Amino acid sequence: MRIDLVCPAAEDSANVRSLAMATLAALTPDDVELSLLDDIVRKIDPVTDIDGRADLAALTVSTKTAVRAYELAAAYRQRGVKVVMGGIHPTAMPDEALEHADCVVVGEAEGLWEQVVADARAGTLQRIYRHATLPEYRTPPWPKRSIFPTRGYVPVHSIQASRGCPFTCEFCSVAPFFGRKTRLRDPKDVAGEIRSLGRRWIMFADDNIIGHGEHSRALFRELMPLKLTWFGQASLQGMQDSDTLRLMAASGCRAVFVGFETVNRASLEACGKRQNHPQQYFEIVKRLHDHGIAVWAAFVFGFDEDTLEVFETTADFATKSGVFMASFSVLTPYPGTPLYARLKEEGRLLDERWWLREQRDGFPVFRPKQMSPEQLFEGWQQAWKLFYSGSSIMRRLPRALRTSWITLGAFLPINLFQRRLTYQKIVGGNKFFNRDRHAKRAEP
Ligand code: SF4
Repeated sequence: MRIDLVCPAAEDSANVRSLAMATLAALTPDDVELSLLDDIVRKIDPVTDIDGRADLAALTVSTKTAVRAYELAAAYRQRGVKVVMGGIHPTAMPDEALEHADCVVVGEAEGLWEQVVADARAGTLQRIYRHATLPEYRTPPWPKRSIFPTRGYVPVHSIQASRGCPFTCEFCSVAPFFGRKTRLRDPKDVAGEIRSLGRRWIMFADDNIIGHGEHSRALFRELMPLKLTWFGQASLQGMQDSDTLRLMAASGCRAVFVGFETVNRASLEACGKRQNHPQQYFEIVKRLHDHGIAVWAAFVFGFDEDTLEVFETTADFATKSGVFMASFSVLTPYPGTPLYARLKEEGRLLDERWWLREQRDGFPVFRPKQMSPEQLFEGWQQAWKLFYSGSSIMRRLPRALRTSWITLGAFLPINLFQRRLTYQKIVGGNKFFNRDRHAKRAEP
């Protein structure tokens, strides 16, 4: 039996190895021949790269890659190959996915994929596979990363130590997909997997690596002897505890992605992110810097409580706090989230299946409350321009120089790159910014 593992990518997908695909590979019986087709490494040509030799094609699909996934699925099905889809988008929209696939896996693959393969082999593939309860995650099978080619990805391996989130942020897909009960891996199992990689640079794919009290501290203690340099996403609530922060830094954490989301207290209340307190933001950034940890701050615009001042106020906070990097997004109602359900109910979605149509990056797909979609779009661009202006970069530079040897070396190259991205992609609308960049690199 042969299975093609297929990773569709969007123009701005990051060059990282798909943990979902490596997990499927680990769950697949040894006598099945696996072949990986990854848009990230080389754009898949539906005519020349897809043949009819596979018995099954498995696609991992996010909302951003849904259109591309449907295109690739059609090429397989034209050649008589059965298609199975899984991931966050088919989980939220199984009926839509079934218009393009023979089978959909709803939720996590562990405990279902083995049955999918057995049924495909027996010619009894079902339309939908779903869990009665979420799978155990204390000691999951380690992803089989040998399926990836050696080149084409960022030189950092990603790893996951927990799944699920107890919070209820209205816009977030994590709880609908992974559940509201956090499932934590055995810290020794995580350290064992990292050891097996033989790499010192690691990226945690967890949505919140720091927010699990004693478990987070136990994990950091396990990581210490490994002498890692690692990056991850962290919640503000987890940073209140100075012992946890100290252990996190001592275990090799050098940068965190933090969802501040907004500096507007009313928006935080309304979207359910009550664990964030804007009055603490400066202090938290300072504490992270004091521990040698750089901050990549993420903000969202377009909450119902946002007015036209929010763009400048946010960029101003980000500059004054001295964060290493910031990204600004327009609020997006992803299917399956409470936000999507509410905006649909209120008749405010510009298109109920907005992900299926071509659109300008950053242009809202819903009607904001206190401004027009155009004003939200222009304000979003303005925030990028302000934060990556020469004066903001120069103002943040001294803090970066003091934070760690990584920020010392990386601050200017990364901020100048982000400035180019701002003008070419965010403001200039070049959606092929990434592709053009890679093509330029490949030129002789
Ligand atoms: S935004 Fe973060 S804290 Fe909120 S539900 Fe999602 S993962 Fe949890």
